[in-house]
Amino acid sequence: MFGPLIVKPAKSKGDKTGSWRIKSKPSFLQKNCIACKLCLLICPENCISGKEKNAFAVDYNFCKGCGLCAIVCLKNDIEMIEEASSKTG
Ligand code: SF4
Ligand code: SF4
Repeated sequence: MFGPLIVKPAKSKGDKTGSWRIKSKPSFLQKNCIACKLCLLICPENCISGKEKNAFAVDYNFCKGCGLCAIVCLKNDIEMIEEASSKTG
C-alpha cells in the first residue's frame, strides 16, 4: 500500500554544491577515527565515504558545510575549517 518510508539520501551529479559552500568545510584529520560511521550516516548530502579507521573522507563537490559530521564525531577527528584554508582541497 505504501512505499518504503526509509530511502537513501539523494546525490545528484548535476547538483554540485561546492560553488556556494562559502563559510567552512570539514577536514578529516584521520588520526583518531574508529570507523564508527556516525559522520557518514548523519551527512544529509551522503558525501562522506570510508570503511576503515582513519580513512574517511568527504567529496567537497557535494558538501554544504553544515558541520553535522564534526558535531557527531565522538573522537573529534573532524575539524571545521575556513573555506579558504589550504589544509585540504
Ligand atoms: S559538513 Fe555537512 S554536508 Fe559536509 S560532509 Fe559534513 S555533514 Fe556532510
Ligand atoms: S564519526 Fe569520527 S570516528 Fe566515526 S567514522 Fe566519522 S571520522 Fe571516524
